[in-house]
Amino acid sequence: MKRVLVVDDEKGVRDLFCRVLETAGYEVASAESGEQALEILEQENFSLLLFDLNLPGIDGIELCKRVRKLLPISIIFAITGYASLFHLHDCRQAGFDDYFIKPISIKDLLAEVRLASKKIDRWLDREA
Ligand SMILES: [Mg+2]
Repeated sequence: MKRVLVVDDEKGVRDLFCRVLETAGYEVASAESGEQALEILEQENFSLLLFDLNLPGIDGIELCKRVRKLLPISIIFAITGYASLFHLHDCRQAGFDDYFIKPISIKDLLAEVRLASKKIDRWLDREA
């Protein structure tokens, strides 16, 4: 089973993502800040991660840079309110694989997470 970590300071977004992903059969954890996410990652492993970019404290870009080093075989999505080319460039450099623009369609979220899950399987097969 794939484990998903959702990091967003908006409770509504966290709750929605958790509910949708749990219903789809994923094991989901959530954090309201980058700091809290890093604490969780010290204890547990995740292969799919979704980070809000606009977080108080450690922002999503910085969080992604750190987590990319910790978890090289993972798919990390940015969650953002807007997407300028400049912004996306930063995301890619930080190590994000892809991004969602709010408001996020549940259908798209599930489709992308499913696809990411398959990609992870391919990496892990190769590694074995
Ligand atoms: Mg935010």
